[in-house]
Amino acid sequence: MEPRDIEGDLTEILIEEEQIRTRLAELCRLIETDYAGRDLLLVGVLKGAVMVMADLARELVHPITMDWMAVSSYGSGTQSSGVVRILKDLDTDLLGRNVLIVEDIIDSGLTLSWLLSNLKSRGPESVEICALLRKPDAARVDIDVKYLGFDIPNQFVVGYGLDFDERYRNLRSVGVLAPHIYS
Ligand code: 5GP
Ligand code: MG
Ligand code: MG
Repeated sequence: MEPRDIEGDLTEILIEEEQIRTRLAELCRLIETDYAGRDLLLVGVLKGAVMVMADLARELVHPITMDWMAVSSYGSGTQSSGVVRILKDLDTDLLGRNVLIVEDIIDSGLTLSWLLSNLKSRGPESVEICALLRKPDAARVDIDVKYLGFDIPNQFVVGYGLDFDERYRNLRSVGVLAPHIYS
């Protein structure tokens, strides 16, 4: 692949690196207060949540452990179907644990609502959600996102872990992909 300026493939930058950092720090202060004196297991959903997990975990002044899940939600193109398959399961027993799911983005909310009931069935003490981004459709599904970074418009975004065809994950900001890239 030819080296190129990946920001040139965006129509706009929605959220700058600095805004993400500031917002994550705010969320971390809430999390530290809420989980004071309690154990906390962060569960990241691969691969999109890698960046938010890394930054959130390092900003937290709280003893945590981390684990990862990979799921695939079947659907055509950029649409989620709600049919979810576990590609990589947790290594951790959730019995009695306080679980915080760390997600990159909630669009239809179908993936997360499936994940939520799956993890809750494993006997944890609690399960909450932290998501960097949320799109408008997610409001139609009844998911309580306890720690939310930003509500964004209904556009396909990339960067800060989010990909198109596995690219753009290393972009430090979140931006809107130019239509000519995916058409
Ligand atoms: P949901 O089940 O909430 O519709 O889909 C969630 C997953 O779809 C996210 O974890 C992400 O992988 C993908 N997704 C949804 N919206 C976007 C988007 O705007 N950009 C990218 N890159 N992925 C998205
Ligand atoms: Mg995700
Ligand atoms: Mg993707």
